[in-house]
Amino acid sequence: MMYVTLTIDGQKANVPKDYTILQAAKEIGIEVPALCYDPNLEIVAACRLCLVEIEGKNKLETSCSTKVREGMVVHTESEKIISIRKEILQLLLDSHPNDCLTCQKAGECLLQKYAYRYDVKFREHDGAMRPNLVDTSSPYILKDDSKCILCGKCVRTCSLIDDRKVLAFSNRGYDTKISLDADQTLETSSCVSCNRCVVVCPVGALVDKRTMGKMRPWEGESHVVKCKACQYGCNFEVLTKNKEKVAVRAMEPDQGRPLCLKGRLTTELINIDMPDKPYRKIGGRFEETTWEKALGLNEILEKIRTIKDND
Ligand code: SF4
Ligand code: SF4
Ligand code: SF4
Repeated sequence: MMYVTLTIDGQKANVPKDYTILQAAKEIGIEVPALCYDPNLEIVAACRLCLVEIEGKNKLETSCSTKVREGMVVHTESEKIISIRKEILQLLLDSHPNDCLTCQKAGECLLQKYAYRYDVKFREHDGAMRPNLVDTSSPYILKDDSKCILCGKCVRTCSLIDDRKVLAFSNRGYDTKISLDADQTLETSSCVSCNRCVVVCPVGALVDKRTMGKMRPWEGESHVVKCKACQYGCNFEVLTKNKEKVAVRAMEPDQGRPLCLKGRLTTELINIDMPDKPYRKIGGRFEETTWEKALGLNEILEKIRTIKDND
């Protein structure tokens, strides 16, 4: 593989020639902020937070989409760049509810993290705010459009699985939002509650409802377990607070892993001390169900009986 050497913030980086500046920076320990970037998803360079200055170029470039070149000299935290980042973050906060105190995402939210890093605060203004549209129809996911920053990561990750493609941008301009199946709810849409979108959402716009109120990220510990429901072995995190295993949540669906509700419920049943009741979607309505039905255990037991009878 061909390598190139470039300078980022005064440090030399020697990286494969197909790397982007953002990847090269990460390699030498420099974190360029980005809200819409995900290494597993198509690059769209939409949030503009990862802009960097390249010596010899008048135009600023998005580091997530610009490839490295031999001898390149890059500045990721110049005065100009910091001022642009502050402006972008301020605009996002201006149309965002000031809800960090009770938001389930606090402590893990990228908007909160970057606002802290660049000292940008919520402020009083008489301009427009995103409307408070919360979809509470699902027992698995809470969708809060007022917190959505339109990064599109949920849309891109849902569309990676052929038979899903539930999410899309709808409306225009300031009214743009993320819709399910042309403006259905989580309950009435074809959403299968896999939680891929929840995992990639950088803010509290999509939240795993079964973890809500159970634990703040700094209050306990987590460890990774592999799902045992099928050969993909998707990763889940088991959250432990005061020695009690309180919740399971899906992790990054990397390497083509699909994530699914059955796998998540199986992992909950195996790992959680007191799992919440399971639900199934039947005819566009969520209904509380039994663990046997949620996991298809009756069918498995029936098959075992049949095999035994034929022995
Ligand atoms: S999404 Fe982030 S910034 Fe918004 S309220 Fe929640 S923690 Fe705060
Ligand atoms: S939970 Fe899964 S199927 Fe539903 S919208 Fe999110 S990614 Fe798509
Ligand atoms: S719901 Fe989350 S992932 Fe989807 S566009 Fe909004 S902020 Fe991004």
